[in-house]
Amino acid sequence: MLSSLGPTITYQVAELPVAFEMFLPENRSKYDVLVFYHMWQKITEEQAKVVAECIGDGKPVVALHHSICAFDDWPEYWNIIGGKYFHKPTTFKGKDYAPCSYIHDLHFTVKVSAQKHPVTRGLKDFPIFDETYKGYYVEEGVTPLLTTDEPSSTPVIGWAKKYGKARIVVLQSGHDVPTFENPDFRKLLKQAVEWTYAGIKRK
Ligand SMILES: [Zn+2]
Repeated sequence: MLSSLGPTITYQVAELPVAFEMFLPENRSKYDVLVFYHMWQKITEEQAKVVAECIGDGKPVVALHHSICAFDDWPEYWNIIGGKYFHKPTTFKGKDYAPCSYIHDLHFTVKVSAQKHPVTRGLKDFPIFDETYKGYYVEEGVTPLLTTDEPSSTPVIGWAKKYGKARIVVLQSGHDVPTFENPDFRKLLKQAVEWTYAGIKRK
C-alpha cells in the first residue's frame, strides 16, 4: 500500500519503541510526514513531551486504524489525533465513556461527507471490507471527512484537524490486506499525506 503511493512519496518504516528517536529534534529533518500504524501503549513522560512537541511544532500526522487505540494513559495523544478508542471505562473532558467495541470482516459503505476537501477530492462513496470500531471519542470541532451508517461503527470514520502547527488526518479503516489493496483507500491515504505535507510552514 505504501509503495503504491510513489514515486513522489517514499517511506521508511520505524517501529516503536525505537521509533521514539524519530521525534527527537535532531531527527525531525529526516522525514516530512508521520504515518501512524501502531497500538503502542507505554510511554515515558520525557517521550510524551518530545512527541507532543514534534507534532505541535508542525510535523504532520496521518493516523491509521489501530493508532486510534494507542496510548491508553496519555490523554494528550487523544488531543493530538482528536480521537480515542477506549479499552477501559474512561472519563475524558467531563464525559464518561464505556469500553469501545470492534467487529472484524464487515462489508460496508464509506460515505464521503466532505467532497470538496483535498483529502477526499475525486472520491465518491465506496465499499470497503474492514473492521469497525464503536463508541470511540471524536474531538468536537474536527472536520469530518468520512462517515458510515454501519451500526457497529461510530458514524465518523475519517477526519481532519490541526494540532499546534500541524495538520492531522485520521482514517479509522485499515485493519488488513483488503483495505490495503482498496484503490479508494489508497487514494485517500495518498491525498492525506499530500494535504498534511502541504500544511508545513517553511521559513
Ligand atoms: Zn484492527
